[in-house]
Amino acid sequence: MPLVTPGVIKLSSYYFPTLKEDPVDAEIVSHRLLIRGAFLRKVLGGCYAFLPLGMRVLRKIEQIIREEMDAIGCTELLMGNIQPGELWHESGRWDDYGPELMRLENRNGTSFVLGPTHEELITSLVRNELRSYKELPKSLYHINWKYRDEIRPRFGLLRAREFIMKDAYSFHDSAESLNEHYQQQSSAYARICERLGLDFRPVEADSGQIGGKVTTEYMALAEVGEAELVYCESECCGFAANTEVASVDVKLAQYQASNVEKIHTPIEGTITALANFLGVSESATVKALSGRTEDGSIWVVFVPGSHELALLKAEHALPGFSLLDDEAMLAAGLIKGYMGPVGLPNGVKVAADESLRNIERWVVGANELHYHYVGAKYDEDFSVDLWADFLCAKDGDICKQCGATVKIARGIEVGQVFQLGTKYSESMHAYYMSEDGSEKPFLMGCYGWGVTRSLAAVVEQHNDSNGIIWPMGVCPAEVCVIALAVNDEFVEPVATRLADELAKRGIEVALDDRNERPGVKFNDADLIGWPLQLIVGKRGLENGKVELKVRDTLEKSELSLNNAADEVAKLVFEHRAMFA
Ligand code: ATP
Ligand code: MG
Repeated sequence: MPLVTPGVIKLSSYYFPTLKEDPVDAEIVSHRLLIRGAFLRKVLGGCYAFLPLGMRVLRKIEQIIREEMDAIGCTELLMGNIQPGELWHESGRWDDYGPELMRLENRNGTSFVLGPTHEELITSLVRNELRSYKELPKSLYHINWKYRDEIRPRFGLLRAREFIMKDAYSFHDSAESLNEHYQQQSSAYARICERLGLDFRPVEADSGQIGGKVTTEYMALAEVGEAELVYCESECCGFAANTEVASVDVKLAQYQASNVEKIHTPIEGTITALANFLGVSESATVKALSGRTEDGSIWVVFVPGSHELALLKAEHALPGFSLLDDEAMLAAGLIKGYMGPVGLPNGVKVAADESLRNIERWVVGANELHYHYVGAKYDEDFSVDLWADFLCAKDGDICKQCGATVKIARGIEVGQVFQLGTKYSESMHAYYMSEDGSEKPFLMGCYGWGVTRSLAAVVEQHNDSNGIIWPMGVCPAEVCVIALAVNDEFVEPVATRLADELAKRGIEVALDDRNERPGVKFNDADLIGWPLQLIVGKRGLENGKVELKVRDTLEKSELSLNNAADEVAKLVFEHRAMFA
């Protein structure tokens, strides 16, 4: 006898050790429920094993991704986990990638990396073999494990050391061709989000160490997300950006003064204390932060008192910028909490946020303990060496595209698409023969999707106090038939027949035929989160009825045994048709 009836998951012989208690180290709901529901087990910090239920969901997500990639002409291949260290030296990322890169050596002392991403490997595969402009464009993807020695793996699958990514790479001979494929990938990413049932926003982002300029992140909105995004409240605008890079307009108050004056401010050196002391709003004051750039210069950066400095923007505007600690400030002659552009120590340079150009008279530190200037005017009282965007956007700032207000939200980055340009093709000498006969480096794009992270993001957005509520497109099976009394002479045969009928109609079905109390079965069914539960009990059968429970709404209805399979199949097919 086969262990499992073909097409039906018989839970009596399935491996799914659900837990009653929350695991102690799980801080967020998706992590808790995926462990309790027997989808995952921790192997070591940041590494997980997928149990059979988890594996089923994973395969579904992969299938959705495959369909969407295939639909835009992106072709699947498979690259391994171990890559030659040499390739990373060629691209320069052996040094640039930092300690997240997992390096290893074999017995002969040859260096390898465990791939955190595959730009180097794919470029080495196509160079010398993809030769002519006539063969372009080409787009390739694979789905495989990735390794990153994250400093703080946490939140289960959200930030892991070993995780599954879909990564695609494309090769082009013109910016138009790259841009066209980038748009196709972007649309595919939006469709993947929809099919996974994710509430998401595509956001403008920073390309980090990967290279290139044009990039979009796909963010699943969630409080536990590590990324912060700004989005326009106007429904027709669509502006959204990572707060690290978001450029917005700000409303600032003007300090009313006709000349500059140094005043005694015997207060703690914070913006709130200063604003309270002067009886003005924080946005009428100016905040200062000091840092050192890679050439060793000391800069003081000024931003409106109502806003924070965006460090990443500071790093872009002032290469290598890092904040000074208290000791370094003292050594540079800077007074924490009282820095200002008037009378800075010699050699200290001044940078300011663009928005402060519109502030006629600044309220700002006087470089002296317990003193501030009010009414300081640039070009008269001080000068600015560099104007740039240094602001971290916040709720209520103004959208540059449409003038509506923006909001801040948190998000889980589930995917990111990049236009890489020629960063890898040039450093790794990947050239093709162009139409005019000259050798040119490929223009490249790369498109990463966190398969395992998106699985957790789905759970983060779809759960209640009883467990997971899988959207139909990503559930471990669409229906669970629950046999309430397996020893009863009718219940089990009827439940088995129903499960078989559903399986024959092409529905994914589990059959809870375990010798367990009804309470255990109901709890497990809700915890695991099968979208539809078909409950077969003795009393119902006496009246020719079974019960259907919809996990999402918790609605229950009675179905006549005769057409229960048809009714349930209809529901499933209606749902499938929405994404066909
Ligand atoms: P993050 O900013 O969250 O560290 P990243 O921008 O470094 O991610 P990418 O290089 O863009 O990540 O990788 C593509 C996708 O891989 C990400 O959008 C994310 O979904 C997934 N991913 C990256 N790092 C991890 C990780 N440590 N654990 C799980 N998934 C990850
Ligand atoms: Mg990213």
